[in-house]
Amino acid sequence: MTEKTPKLRAALDGVPTYKPGKPAAADGPVAYKLSSNENPYPPLPGVLETAIEAAGSLNRYPDMACTGLMLELAERFGVPVTHIATGTGSVGVAQQLIQSTAGPGDEVIYAWRSFEAYPIITQVSGATPVPVPLTDGDVHDLDAMLAAITDRTRLIFVCNPNNPTGTVVRRAELESFLDRVPADILVVLDEAYIEFIRDENVPNGIDLYRDRPNVCVLRTFSKAYGLAGLRVGFAIAHEPVAAALRKTAVPFGVTQLAQDAAVASLRSEDALRERVDALVGERARVVGALTAQGWTLPESQANFVWLPLGERSQDFAAACERAGVVVRPFPEGVRVTIGETEANDLFVQTAEAFR
Ligand code: PMP
Repeated sequence: MTEKTPKLRAALDGVPTYKPGKPAAADGPVAYKLSSNENPYPPLPGVLETAIEAAGSLNRYPDMACTGLMLELAERFGVPVTHIATGTGSVGVAQQLIQSTAGPGDEVIYAWRSFEAYPIITQVSGATPVPVPLTDGDVHDLDAMLAAITDRTRLIFVCNPNNPTGTVVRRAELESFLDRVPADILVVLDEAYIEFIRDENVPNGIDLYRDRPNVCVLRTFSKAYGLAGLRVGFAIAHEPVAAALRKTAVPFGVTQLAQDAAVASLRSEDALRERVDALVGERARVVGALTAQGWTLPESQANFVWLPLGERSQDFAAACERAGVVVRPFPEGVRVTIGETEANDLFVQTAEAFR
């Protein structure tokens, strides 16, 4: 381990160090990380074993085409293998999508507030970000997004459920939107949190993409599958889009460890679903407790909740940190991941004291 430079050490002064998911000593630093929408469960034993086995070949480059994972995904989702592209996390795939679609002078539309990476990866491509404010209820304003389309628009992100508000766009509304988007504009349905949805009126993007060549579905192994540290995501889209993604992929961008662990996770979906169900149960418990305290929050269909605290967001995050949980403040509100029961309890207690 290299010594930290004095400058870095100074920059880190006062920044609490924490081990995600480990309880802190009574007077210790912040302990629970509820700030990145991670899955609090460690990998399933079988998935871990597979990863360890793959680690035995770390002297080799991975399968550049991700063959095993691609075939497994094709079977799991009932799509042709040519309609799939894998990448370094779904954020990596999203960046490739923009790079292969939009450049200087082009525009990329997304709701705001939404996933922080959208403006960043748009700017990396030299394209112009076009944020469209959420409605008062923190939901995508699809009519306003349609109105924002110009002849320079190349791509539109719809984050469903939306990060950080947890709100969803329902089937009728989304289908009507897709019917009105010009066919030469790519609509990316970012479904990073789809497994946590319990509202039956929210469509599965994979049903929507089938007869829509301009729709691309983005998924990840980072959330419900609990493999955030391995950086593997994928897109499902018709051949020209998927082929362009495969062409622009960083060579060997998905390690063999990640490929094999992702396949093992797809084969362990029953056990993983139990964990997701438990987190959804925790979400209901947290929302119930907050509502009983008098909080008004938008209905979340993801593994986090959103407190629209506005100017009080930083203060609330600081209070949480003092109590031992790291949450994520934004200018409009605070996003809190549903984590382990004790962490959720600490958050709920802090919320009560803060009101
Ligand atoms: N999309 C959304 C909406 C997200 O919230 C995230 C992660 N926070 C991602 C994509 C990227 O996830 P990953 O790169 O880990 O697949």
